[in-house]
Amino acid sequence: MTATFDRTSEIQLNSQVSSFLKQPKKLLINGKWVDAANGKTFPVYNPATGEAIAQVAEGTAEDINQAIKAARQAFENGPWSRITVSDRGKLIWKLADLLEANLEEFAELESIDNGKPIGVARVADVPLAIDLFRYMAGWATKIEGSTIPISVPYDPGSKYFAYTQREPVGVVGQIIPWNFPLLMAAWKLGPALAAGCTIVLKPAEQTPLSALRLGELICEAGFPDGVVNIIPGYGETAGAALAAHPDVDKVAFTGSTEVGKLIVQAAAGNLKKVSLELGGKSPNIVFKDSDLETAIPGAANAIFFNHGQCCCAGSRLYVEQSIFDRVVEGVAEQGKKIKVGPGLDPTTQMGPLVSDEQLDRVCGYLQSGLSEGATAVIGGQRIGDKGYFVEPTVLVNTKQTMKVVQEEIFGPVVTVLPFQEIDELVSIANDTIYGLAAGIWTKDIAKAHNIASKLRAGTVWINCYNIFDAALPFGGYKQSGWGRDMGREALENYTEVKSVCVRL
Ligand code: NDP
Repeated sequence: MTATFDRTSEIQLNSQVSSFLKQPKKLLINGKWVDAANGKTFPVYNPATGEAIAQVAEGTAEDINQAIKAARQAFENGPWSRITVSDRGKLIWKLADLLEANLEEFAELESIDNGKPIGVARVADVPLAIDLFRYMAGWATKIEGSTIPISVPYDPGSKYFAYTQREPVGVVGQIIPWNFPLLMAAWKLGPALAAGCTIVLKPAEQTPLSALRLGELICEAGFPDGVVNIIPGYGETAGAALAAHPDVDKVAFTGSTEVGKLIVQAAAGNLKKVSLELGGKSPNIVFKDSDLETAIPGAANAIFFNHGQCCCAGSRLYVEQSIFDRVVEGVAEQGKKIKVGPGLDPTTQMGPLVSDEQLDRVCGYLQSGLSEGATAVIGGQRIGDKGYFVEPTVLVNTKQTMKVVQEEIFGPVVTVLPFQEIDELVSIANDTIYGLAAGIWTKDIAKAHNIASKLRAGTVWINCYNIFDAALPFGGYKQSGWGRDMGREALENYTEVKSVCVRL
């Protein structure tokens, strides 16, 4: 593993990105870019260096109020409330086209803001966001109800015609995290726009840049004023005000389980609808009959992709006893080969963690694991003292009860435990408060399906991991969340069902 921090300052930014970084970054309210009501700004840092790269207007409750007023007006009375579903779909498609035309700029922006390798942002984050918008653009014309034959036992002989229709839920608050800033904005905005809602989006304080640039494209695409409002700011102020606001009909949140619970409490005031995509501690299971040529790199990718900052990271690796040493050695080899460095260096395979706070959190878990008796086969430490880099880490000699096995670390740290019996395996795999994802590696397909049915997880990958598609619903069992992002299911978050019954 090598680190190339000294190259950060040499990396030339794309001229569009440099000029975007230099412009004042404001709030998008009712189609206009405005300063925060209190005039304050907050700094955004490059995680590879810890240096501030931009100042962003700091939205607070007053700005959230204004944005919600604009969203309400756009929902009730604006052109958006009268637009045809076909035109709604065309606007979303146009946004995807604009994003595609600016792919390189977004990849760079995402890399400098979040720290992820530019190569990853280029082939994953931005294309997945484009695809999501296109997928949801198609749904705008297909959100249908049904006709329902009814009997009405207390009204014999009468005839009724009954049908359902799906209507937009209304004004939606969306609060998103920093691990896939653009993609999370797309996951939230795409289905809400397809359903005809209006939106107030709060990006994470660490990574607001791509959402703000997306706001410019939303204006350029021609969405009517007030349909999408973007308010960067802090969770405790802007986020909390959005979640609690009495004129918001629904709040959609992605982030920690801890904050997810605060969102539920805040939403209770007006009983707004809530969907949550929260944390995970996903089991990744390797059987002795798997193809180790794919299972070993697959297990490494499951944890090290995006530096482990994935809610679905395969952070608990369970390996059948007889191949335990071989898999540990193989995953460690893969981890050692990863080139860690600044995201903008094209040769980088793993960038820094997103923030000093996240660095402290991950290092705290490493210390906790090692002090409880775990052994680091590779890694276990921070790299250098500039930027927020952590070594890819493989921990063995762990126990199911340890904090590193039970809690979400959200860093490049995998714990590996052996298993012998399938019943014991299913019970330890499910032994967590979370239920987001799981992986199974075996050539015995009947066994794979059988275990998949027993795992309490919203997504199960068999002989693969981290496979995402706009059409495939994603979300969690247990404390990993409520509702699903992506796929047809995501539209349910943003629609109400109305039953209409006509006496004939
Ligand atoms: P948070 O859950 O705090 O942040 C997610 C979003 O919620 C951000 O926009 C944040 O704003 C906002 N927020 C924070 N507090 C409130 C509040 N009281 N009311 C409304 N919104 C709020 O995650 P962290 O950034 O603190 O990361 C901590 C841990 O969360 C990680 O280590 C990881 O375990 C987990 N996490 C899970 C993610 C997932 O994809 N499921 C994504 C990110 C983190 P602000 O940015 O200003 O804090």
